Amino acid sequence: MKAIRVHQFGGPEVLKLEEIPTPKPETGQVLVRIRAAGVNPYDTYMRNGTYAIKPPLPYTPGSDAAGTIEAIGSGVKKVKPGDRVYTAQTLTGAYAEYALALEDQAHPLPQIISFEQGAGIWVPYGTAYHALHHFAKARASETVLVHGASGGVGTAALQLARAMGLTVFGTAGSDKGLELVKREGAHQTFNHSKAGYHEEIMKASGGRGVDIILEMLANVNLGGDLKLLAMQGRVVVIGSRGDVTITPRDLMSRRASVRAFTLWASQPAEVGEIHAGLFAGFENGTLKPVVGKKIPLAEAARAHKEVMEPGATGKIVLIP
Ligand code: NAP
Repeated sequence: MKAIRVHQFGGPEVLKLEEIPTPKPETGQVLVRIRAAGVNPYDTYMRNGTYAIKPPLPYTPGSDAAGTIEAIGSGVKKVKPGDRVYTAQTLTGAYAEYALALEDQAHPLPQIISFEQGAGIWVPYGTAYHALHHFAKARASETVLVHGASGGVGTAALQLARAMGLTVFGTAGSDKGLELVKREGAHQTFNHSKAGYHEEIMKASGGRGVDIILEMLANVNLGGDLKLLAMQGRVVVIGSRGDVTITPRDLMSRRASVRAFTLWASQPAEVGEIHAGLFAGFENGTLKPVVGKKIPLAEAARAHKEVMEPGATGKIVLIP
């Protein structure tokens, strides 16, 4: 099969398309024929060798894919050959024509979700769900600011928050991104690359601030976020690429909090809840992953460059 292999940590150019043996599922494992693989920013941190998780070399990147079950190992009960699935992590990597996964890493893909959309489920929607439900403990009627709403996690968060009955504010850094943010559920949009947008957000909240901020770039925004919070407000840090200075009194005066997580450390009970909650939303049509770009698997290096550039419009997916 064809697969992207990384033999040394480094820039996007270390992603090489190679021919390697197709793996065979053992007990409790499934082989997925991949139709699309999701490109997440953390795939690039891992490829650089700068992430908390350093896979043994060589490895195939990617945790998110969608496709069909090609074969199953003994003891597998939940899926059978031919079933449509999405993966939440794999054993052998998603940037390939096939991937081995544990039975519990393959989840049913509702008919109304395409394979390309299915490749944008686990990390983006899992993260958005975990942030809103488990960390922010969002309640209907609250106001959420999705700070960085035009990308994979952001668009998922907009759809989830809107369906939960929140008032939704979303930011993007381009006109195309702002249109998308509006379309995917934001009641009001703001351009995070324009001076003065914090004042616009405060004004839109009627001067009381927002209850929840889902933060995609904490190293740039956390200090300013704290000044945008209402009493009892919560910031959930989802993404950060460096250090930041905050004024703790902004938290004290609001009885506010900052929480943070990595999705890969979520607990089995939380993971089970996430998949069940997402499945319901896909089935009833409130959740629809937005595919921004489809890129051939062979051009994974280009996908890794583009996922780190500004101007996001949903998910980037690789097509084997
Ligand atoms: P993505 O699809 O590449 O989107 C990046 C988003 O960040 C875009 O909406 C982008 O907006 C926005 N952004 C750029 N500059 C910004 C600024 N100054 N202020 C606010 N937002 C800004 O990435 P993603 O998959 O949504 O992930 C977002 C971040 O969360 C990444 O850093 C990722 O590593 C992290 N993440 C963490 C977890 C976790 O477990 N904690 C899970 C998933 C993702 P424009 O392009 O429109 O400017």
